[in-house]
Amino acid sequence: MSQQNNAPSQDITTRLIHHAYEPPAGFAAPQPAIHKASTVLFPDVAALRAREWKDKTSYTYGLHGTPTTYRLEERIATLEGGQQCLLAPSGLAAISTVALALLKSGDEVLLPDNAYGPNKALAEAELAHWGITHQMFDPLDPLDLAARISPRTRLVWLEAAGSVTLEFPDLLAQARICRERGVTSALDNTWGAGLAFAPFDLKGDGSLGVDISVHALTKYPSGGGDVLMGSITTRDERLHLKLKLAHMRLGLGVGANDAEAVLRALPSMALRYRAHDVATRELARWMGRQAPVAQVLHPALPGSPGHPHWQALCGSANGGAGAAAGLFSVVFDARHGQERVDAFCDALRLFRLGYSWGGPISLVVPYDLPAMRECATPHLADGHLVRFCVGLEDVQDLRADLEQALGRAFGN
Ligand SMILES: *Cc1c(COP(=O)(O)O)cnc(C)c1O
Repeated sequence: MSQQNNAPSQDITTRLIHHAYEPPAGFAAPQPAIHKASTVLFPDVAALRAREWKDKTSYTYGLHGTPTTYRLEERIATLEGGQQCLLAPSGLAAISTVALALLKSGDEVLLPDNAYGPNKALAEAELAHWGITHQMFDPLDPLDLAARISPRTRLVWLEAAGSVTLEFPDLLAQARICRERGVTSALDNTWGAGLAFAPFDLKGDGSLGVDISVHALTKYPSGGGDVLMGSITTRDERLHLKLKLAHMRLGLGVGANDAEAVLRALPSMALRYRAHDVATRELARWMGRQAPVAQVLHPALPGSPGHPHWQALCGSANGGAGAAAGLFSVVFDARHGQERVDAFCDALRLFRLGYSWGGPISLVVPYDLPAMRECATPHLADGHLVRFCVGLEDVQDLRADLEQALGRAFGN
């Protein structure tokens, strides 16, 4: 059906811009449409004046939300067991938004010593410049966290499992301490991803949770290694509004194509997470039996630091098998020099060198652990650490890759 143009013009450009045709309503397909906008149009001045951007009842400007971003926010809130969600252009942007929204000069933020490295760097560099101080606490000692909370403490970051070394903290005790002391707790939930445990309901009876869950959607929700995005999920309208105002004033938004990529990958996320988990545990156990290896770090393996806490929080998922992400680290015995460990990483063929995780490709990164930590780490073996992210390749192929690289680097 052809229709007349709105514009009373013969000019082809005007007619193309103001073309009146609208496709019929009622189109239904598995994947929702992508809505892209900076400008949002209003039918009249009254509507322009009346619309409210702080809730999701309407649309005002692309940065304030589109059907595509609202839809993704609602699905991430469901995944996390929260009620409100904001999207940020990266996981790190989600982390920094929380800090900028909640902290002012004179405040203090506490971070676990095994926190995501760039979160520590944010505190050490940027926040310090603005008169916001920080302390690192021992992730394995809730009493250390409790002792460091002062009247200036406004925010406590939590992470389970910790980055790179994957210690699993007593998250319940940590969350309870924050709640009792009236300090806002923010969990970096990238590892658990909303699947291994429920960040807002740690006991399963609705009585205890964190206040904020930040998730690098870059990892499992995207699943492709090709999207950067983060989310900030809450269960408290006032806290959400505070975060949303800062998020808005900082001008943070995400691209519609990126949001669509995450919407597309979300339905397979739990299946992928489980597949990564099963393969990772098999490879971690196998690595633990190899001669050059002094310690394997994976919270689901007995003996790994914090394993009982993982068991208590994540152990009942998957019919008692528990749930864990696709990461493990290995400490090579200190008698092997860094050159050998580097040679091992270089000899790997399927495990590629690269940061991030959560995609189909297996990755490996050697880390300089002593440079990353402030607190003592008596629970970690002495030696050189390598972190593995297990992708979706065949697990026997991955095991063979590890075996050939061990042979080449440590064989003689
Ligand atoms: C990757 C990651 C982030 C940051 O996500 P980006 O999108 O890369 O900025 C934050 N926390 C953890 C635990 C991560 O693994």
